[in-house]
Amino acid sequence: MTVHAPLLGCIGDDFTGSTDLANTLVRHGMRSVQLIGVPRQTEQVDADAVVIALKSRSIPARDAVTQSLDALAWLRAAGCRQFFFKYCSTFDSTDAGNIGPVADALLDALAANFTLVCPAFPENGRSVYKGHLFVGDKLLNESGMEHHPLTPMTDANLVRVLARQVKAKVGLVPYETVARGARAIIDAFHQLRADGVRFAIVDAIADTDLHAIGEAAADLPLLTGGSGVAIGLPENFRRRGLLQATDTADALPRIDGAAAVLSGSCSAATQGQVQEMRKTRPGFKIDLLAHAGGNNQVDAALSWALPQMTTGPILLYTTDTPDAVKTIQTQLGRDKAGALGEEVLAQIAVRLVAAGVRRVVVAGGETSGAVVNALGITGLRIGPQIDPGVPWTASLNEPTLALALKSGNFGTPDFFTKAFARLP
Ligand code: ADP
Repeated sequence: MTVHAPLLGCIGDDFTGSTDLANTLVRHGMRSVQLIGVPRQTEQVDADAVVIALKSRSIPARDAVTQSLDALAWLRAAGCRQFFFKYCSTFDSTDAGNIGPVADALLDALAANFTLVCPAFPENGRSVYKGHLFVGDKLLNESGMEHHPLTPMTDANLVRVLARQVKAKVGLVPYETVARGARAIIDAFHQLRADGVRFAIVDAIADTDLHAIGEAAADLPLLTGGSGVAIGLPENFRRRGLLQATDTADALPRIDGAAAVLSGSCSAATQGQVQEMRKTRPGFKIDLLAHAGGNNQVDAALSWALPQMTTGPILLYTTDTPDAVKTIQTQLGRDKAGALGEEVLAQIAVRLVAAGVRRVVVAGGETSGAVVNALGITGLRIGPQIDPGVPWTASLNEPTLALALKSGNFGTPDFFTKAFARLP
């Protein structure tokens, strides 16, 4: 099969958000790959869209700009034709950035002078109306996001929020225009541009709006937004004959081998999922206090796992109730307990893969990051969705692993068991 250069190059400001975007693109017919950080060398990627996942949301703006420009340079060298800067659908940022400064620098690098800004994701309750971001029925600044530890969002007016982050002019494409469709939006872009606007917040309250916005953005070198606004882009490429219609964009190779669930999330959803799996499958509860006291839980887990893993998926977990977590944190310190939990599960992952495990579900955002790092994974091909926002993926480097990385609150109670049934 000939490898075509990817069409859409995306830069995500965090890991799970990048997966969410890649998953969205796959569901709309673009074969997608997520790369973890900027690869050192240019390489051919067999995909219609590439998402480079950075961890740039809460780092100093200058570093976020540098990393994003590196990612852009890599994506351009890989042949991408259009670029997408993905941030959170709650517009997580401060007056110092990083959304504004990164978008500004990407425009400069592309010799462009206009982009749209649309974090709307109606499917997840994020809508933008008269430039104001709503989370469900609440304004952003009354949604709980005003208390975020790193990026407290105390203003829902995105025109104002972004204007504090950039020097250039910020404008608005209001809902009345968006509702009239792509042609009207394009006209509004022209008008705003003529008025010297560089960033246009675009209202959107439904998926039909996002499709119209996507169509209107066909000729923009750069778009910025949450993953919602990406749903309109694949059709642009199909319309131009660059992308074939397919219902197999989520195809993954068949991956045989033993299966394991590694759970480090202590969220309510994950606790329920652990209990549910324990009803039918064997589980090993990792004792972090014992480990800290010298009873190596990696060795203990492996001795337990090796005879079990021939019988079907096994479960290894630090997941515990809030009270139990508090006890451990009191004894070890919160950060040390967290780091220890991640390290133990990451080491177990490495040893399990060495022993032949090839299909792995990881629960927990930070835990997933630790496991992916320890396994030396450089990229993931995005496969079929298990539950909203959580696809199966296949690692790009050898040995090929099937990985499902679930952040805390995602997934139905039977997620761990049903996940393996969704693999080819
Ligand atoms: P989530 O996506 O639910 O936030 P994360 O993996 O991001 O899950 O975070 C969970 C954190 O809690 C990790 O740092 C993990 O090591 C830590 N942790 C897991 N189990 C325990 C436990 N029993 N006691 C204390 N900390 C724990």
